[in-house]
Parts: sequence; structure tokens; C-alpha cells
Amino acid sequence: MSYIAPTKEMNFVLESIADLDQVCSLSAFSESSPELIASVLEEAAKFASGVLAPLNTVGDLIGTKIVDNQVRETSGFAEAYQQFIAGGWTTLACNPEYGGMGLPECVGVAATEMWAASNVSFGLCPLLGEGAIEALQSHADEDLRTLYLEKMISGQWTGTMNLTEPQAGSDLAAIKTRATRDGDHYLIQGTKIFITWGDHQMTENILHLVLARTTDAPEGVRGISLFLVPKNLVDADGSIVSANDVQAQSVEHKIGIHGSPTCVMAFGANGPGATGYLIGEENMGLTYMFTMMNHARLSVGVQGVALSDRAYQQAVSYAKQRVQGNPPNQSTSAAIIQHPDVKRMLMLMRALTEGSRALCYLTAASFDIGHKADDEAISQGALSRGELLTPIAKAWSTEVSQEVTSLGVQVHGGMGYIEETGAAQFMRDARITTIYEGTSGIQANDFIGRKVLRDNGVELYRLIAEVRETITQLNDTDGFTTVAINLKNHIDSLDELTTWLVVEHKDDQQLAAAVAFNFLMGAGTCIAGWLLAKSALVATAREQEDANFYGAKITTCRFYSAHVLPRAAAYFATVKASTDSSLMLVEDRF
Ligand SMILES: Cc1cc2nc3c(=O)[nH]c(=O)nc-3n(C[C@H](O)[C@H](O)[C@H](O)COP(=O)(O)OP(=O)(O)OC[C@H]3O[C@@H](n4cnc5c(N)ncnc54)[C@H](O)[C@@H]3O)c2cc1C
Repeated sequence: MSYIAPTKEMNFVLESIADLDQVCSLSAFSESSPELIASVLEEAAKFASGVLAPLNTVGDLIGTKIVDNQVRETSGFAEAYQQFIAGGWTTLACNPEYGGMGLPECVGVAATEMWAASNVSFGLCPLLGEGAIEALQSHADEDLRTLYLEKMISGQWTGTMNLTEPQAGSDLAAIKTRATRDGDHYLIQGTKIFITWGDHQMTENILHLVLARTTDAPEGVRGISLFLVPKNLVDADGSIVSANDVQAQSVEHKIGIHGSPTCVMAFGANGPGATGYLIGEENMGLTYMFTMMNHARLSVGVQGVALSDRAYQQAVSYAKQRVQGNPPNQSTSAAIIQHPDVKRMLMLMRALTEGSRALCYLTAASFDIGHKADDEAISQGALSRGELLTPIAKAWSTEVSQEVTSLGVQVHGGMGYIEETGAAQFMRDARITTIYEGTSGIQANDFIGRKVLRDNGVELYRLIAEVRETITQLNDTDGFTTVAINLKNHIDSLDELTTWLVVEHKDDQQLAAAVAFNFLMGAGTCIAGWLLAKSALVATAREQEDANFYGAKITTCRFYSAHVLPRAAAYFATVKASTDSSLMLVEDRF
């Protein structure tokens, strides 16, 4: 199944939504320019289409297995990985001090989209590594950074994230893995489940970031520390010395992402414990892990975008080839893309995909500015924006990817339900994205609780004010009156609802938890609509340059405004309907 990365669209979103010019003007990115970034993305596109996409089906069909206590990845993946690191693709947005290219994160996100669209199972391996790199970079001491960071950034060693235990999934306070101090290191004992790329043979070492409790640590989340636990122990110059007591006990059988080994990991099963090194300070693990989680959450949102895009590409291709029935007012049968209902499905897929891409790229650019702007006020504002958008980018983009990939199957008719077209694989692969890195329910709690109620809606109101500026521009531009009216109606509702929550229900935790998901989905629907409207304004100014591309952007915005934006009203109505019906039924009546 071929994949063609939509580089023109990606560059457009980077420029018009993520404000790449502003990002590149920051002193930290003085080596970057939109032209350089465009050429990097062209090369990434070739790698994704030429090397990763051809391995996507084989990863799905053959998957991974345990042989002689070691996980064997799908054949072909190891060679692709060597090419991946030889091309420097793990280093894109990493710190130049440790061998990274130092490009903006929003560019890294565009590359992540390509890896995930071409082969999401493969892409998961560097994705987890990026989170581990960020946590080490931000919180580990100089010795750990010197010994491990360069090899992680170069991709010579991969990284994993070990949070989940059988009794501790969404609730990390329940973690039981123990860490006992033993001289300059700790002995780690416990079992982690569902660990992505927990073992493989593609590299000589794997660095596990593990959450565990030290002896006498306080109960709950305040007693969790973060450790670096290498698969193989190394000496001071980074050469491998011996195996650590870390083992993948099994790999899970699952709905999708078969090429990504999901491992049960045993730490210290054969002795006093696996050797681990404390990152930062004891009991600060969860705070540090949030560095990784924010990064990984956005990346998973991007996986949603990627799988939506792949499903869309495949559906368009099929709809142009498959001939069936006479479209209205035609006397002969024609390709199904000419049937209005098929076109509706393709437009819906396209609009949701482009909306979620804009949302994710904007989130990444907000962090670029937040982390690197010299001006304190600009930096703080951008960080707040990135934090507000992260749970929406994760949950909204992945929730809509369920719909888009399912529509991809629908466009194929019966051929979509059987496996050989590949449409079903995108749907199966997408299914995990609303679950891992915090389920949509957890993202929604984060959004309403930490990002809206806790700061009295300040950041959300600031965003709403920017949407109103766009509405003014829409009103000043020919042909956008209806888009402006629709956006205004829904943004007024979001504004009013935010006030209702902040002023009247700030301390009503039950209500907040009950309405969180629909509030997030409604907000996401409005924000994506805003970003598509901004795109359409830019496209209008440039339409003469490329009528096909820019004209399609304008049409997509109009479609979203008419067909998707009205969903926000339904989400908001359920929030206002409060908890009467959703919580009334007592547990034993279910
Ligand atoms: C393929 C795969 C790969 C994974 N990779 C990794 C990995 O690399 N590293 C790692 O550490 N973990 C990994 N995980 C674990 C993943 O992050 C968890 O499965 C996820 O966080 C959900 O936890 P859980 O499965 O225990 O579900 P539970 O926490 O039991 O949740 C079950 C349901 O209850 C809801 N729920 C739970 N608590 C709340 C709440 N407070 N408010 C509202 N709703 C709630 C959830 O939204 C969900 O619908 C992976 C899982 C899978 C399946």
C-alpha cells in the first residue's frame, strides 16, 4: 500500500497555523529556515514512502514474538531502523549539545506524522525514545546525560516508558515497583505491563525509564521516583559490560499495531533487583514523567492525524477506481467518488484530518515558542497555550481518527471489511490511540480540571479572543459570511459555557468529571474550525498561485463549518444538561 506524505499541506500548516516564520526567528532556531525545513520534510517523505510504508502490512501480518526469552521484531524492521538512524531521523528536534539537529518541535511533529502514517508500529519506537530523551535532558544529572543522551539521540540505543502495572493504569498512584538504594544506584523490582518496544533486537541496548517507589516513600503519587534502567549495563565510556536483570516475559496479542511489541517487563526477577539510576530527586518521578507524557500525548494525537490521513488517501484512491451505479442525473455507471454520499464521506475524512493536523502542529509550535522565546511574557503565554491544547490535541485528534478510519472502511464497502485493501488495518491501528498515553477520559479531566477550572478559564478566554479576531477577518473577506456566523455562534457558546463552569460550578468535581469529555470534544470541534478558517483566509489570499490546492482548502473550511462545527452545539448541550441523566442510574441497575 503506497503512502505519499502530504508535504505541501504540512508546509502550509506549519507556515499559516504554526507560524513557522516566528518560530524560526527565535535565536535557538537561528540555523532553521522554512526553506531548510521544507527540504528536510521532502527527504523524510521519501524515507516514509520508500522504506517504512512497504513494511506496514508485513508488520501487521507477522507481528512480533518471543524466541529464547528475547523479543524478535518483524523481519525487515531492523534494517529499516539502521537506515532510519543513518539518515539522522532520530535527531531532528534534539539538543545539538548531544548531537541533535536542533530543529523546532513543530518540524519533528510533521516527521512523526510521516512515520506514523507510513508505519505506525515502527514509528512508535522512536516516539517513545523522544519522550525518554526529553525527560533525561530536563531532569537527569550531568553524569547520566553524558553517558546516555548522545546514544539515545543518535538512535544507537532506544528508549521506553515504563509506567503501567496490572493495578496501576490511569491511576499511577497505585504503582508498586520497588527501588532500594544500593550504593550509587538502586535495585529495581517489579513487573510492568503493556510496555511498547520493551524489547527488540534492533539495537544493542534499550534504556527503560521506570517509575518505582523507594523504601519509605510516601503513599500515592508523591512517593514515585523515576529511574533509568538499561537493558545492558555499561562502563564509564559507554561500552556494554553485562546484561541487567530486565526481561520481556511476553508480548501481547492485540487488535492492531502488531509490528510494535507490547511487552510484559520483569525487573529484578532473577536476583535482588535490576540496576537502576535515579533521575533527578527521589519522589519527583511523576512530575518528571509529565515531561515525557506531554510530549508523548501530543505525539499520539499526531498518530491520530497520521492514520486519518492514510485512511483518507486510500479511500480517495479506491473511490476513484471503483465503478458502481449511476450517480444522480447520469445515465451510466461511474466511479463511486461521483456519488454524493461518497463525496460527503471523503469530505468529512478530509476536514477532520486537516482540522486535527492544524491543532497538533499549533500545539507543537506553542511549545517551541514557550521553551525557546527570550521574552518571558511571550514564553509564558505560549507555554500556557501549549498546555491548554495538549489534551485536546491528544483526545480530539484520536477520537476523530476513529471516525475517519472507520469511514475509510465504509468508502471501500465490503472490500474495506476484508483485510487485503489495508483500510481495516488503519482502523485497527488507530483504535489504541484514544487509550494509551492517558485515555480520552483522562485527557478530558486534565482539560477541564487543570487547564480550565484551575486558572479560571484565563487561557481559554485568551484563545477565544483570538478566535474573535479571526471572525472579524472572515467578515471582512468576501465569501466567508456564513463561516463567520457559524464560528461566532459556536465560539459564543464555548465562551458562555466556560463562564458557566468557572463561575457557577468551579468546585463541583462531580459535574466537571461528568461533562469533561463532551466539553473537550466541543472545544476541540470549535478550535479546529477556527484553525481551518484561518487556513482558508490565507488560502484566499494565495488562490491565484495554485487554485487546486488553495481552492480545496477553502472548500474544506466551508464543509467543516457546515457539517462538523454544528456538532459543537450538541456537545455543549449535553454539558449544560448536566448530570441528571448521565449519573442517575445507580450501579446495580446497569
Ligand atoms: C498497545 C498498548 C501500548 C501501551 N504502551 C505503554 C507503554 O509504553 N508504557 C506504559 O507505561 N503503558 C503503556 N500502555 C498502557 C496504557 O497507557 C494504559 O492502558 C492506559 O493508560 C489506560 O490504563 P488501563 O489500561 O489500566 O485502563 P484503566 O485505567 O483501567 O481505565 C479503564 C477505563 O476507565 C476509565 N477511567 C479510569 N480512571 C478514570 C478517571 N479517573 N476518570 C475517568 N475515567 C477513568 C478510562 O478512561 C477507561 O475508559 C500501553 C497500552 C497498550 C494497550
